[in-house]
Amino acid sequence: MSDANGQPYANGAAYVDGQYYPIGEAKISILDWGYRRSDVTYDVVGVWNGAFFRLDDHIRRFRASMNQLQLSPPESDEEIKQVLTKLIRLSGLRHSYVGMDCVRGTPPAGAPRHPKYARNYLVCHALPWIWIAPKEKIDAGLSLYIAGPRRIPPESFEPRVKNFHWGDLTRGQFEALEAGADFAVLLDEAGNVTEGAGFNIFCVTDGVVATPSRGGLDGITRMSVMELCQELGLPLGVRPVSAEEFRNADEIFGCTTAGGILPATCIDGRILGNGSPGPISSLIKDRFWNKRAEGWLATPIDYDSPL
Ligand code: PLP
Repeated sequence: MSDANGQPYANGAAYVDGQYYPIGEAKISILDWGYRRSDVTYDVVGVWNGAFFRLDDHIRRFRASMNQLQLSPPESDEEIKQVLTKLIRLSGLRHSYVGMDCVRGTPPAGAPRHPKYARNYLVCHALPWIWIAPKEKIDAGLSLYIAGPRRIPPESFEPRVKNFHWGDLTRGQFEALEAGADFAVLLDEAGNVTEGAGFNIFCVTDGVVATPSRGGLDGITRMSVMELCQELGLPLGVRPVSAEEFRNADEIFGCTTAGGILPATCIDGRILGNGSPGPISSLIKDRFWNKRAEGWLATPIDYDSPL
């Protein structure tokens, strides 16, 4: 799994339960409950221009997710940061998508088949940077579709715990494709918007920005957008947002680690504004990337010291 120059980690690097591997050689057991039951939580942090973005916030959220699911790998937060840093240094990637998963494992032979008896472990990987959609599409504006499946309610599974329970989002993605849109957005039981397939959502009406208060992940990029709204003096409401308000908004944008700010130019077949990303979405997007270029909340990686 080396690249053309024989560098084993150039396509990405992985860490599985204490060992490092070239990305194509990393494996977990098919009996692991992380796989068989989606009994796993994860997080994804970006590396841009050789620096992690909001690394401490991602680690804090990852630990909170693990605590909620009663998952406890051997590594401390500091050790997880060291693992992620080593993955980047092994791969040499300057722009990277860095995943950290904690899987349940499997109860040992003879133990009751209850998650409490399983030994949990960490699976991390660093890949060349991934955009959620082609960059040209992100720049031109996405087409969104409010799909039929309702988002799994927080009463069933807390969406603030980053998870792979994507059955609803995956169904939504097929509906979106059928409708000629790029991405699905899902409603909750009350008919309010929650989040999209891999991103949080915002809408803008009469200059006021709004994002749903419930039903989705507390995205780290969403937190950044909320901070930028304050910095830019844009009024922001964190509250229930009905499907009707969302559909009729002046502007809509999504946000996620793997893409930053994602202006939408179409919702359920309706072209927003003049069909290009709206002024407030563009202002926030530009400010986001300009600040990133200036090293905003960045943790630089030392690529040169010996591994
Ligand atoms: N919502 C869902 C369902 C996601 O999968 C993601 C990111 O993967 C997000 C929101 C955005 O979160 P973040 O900004 O922390 O990447």
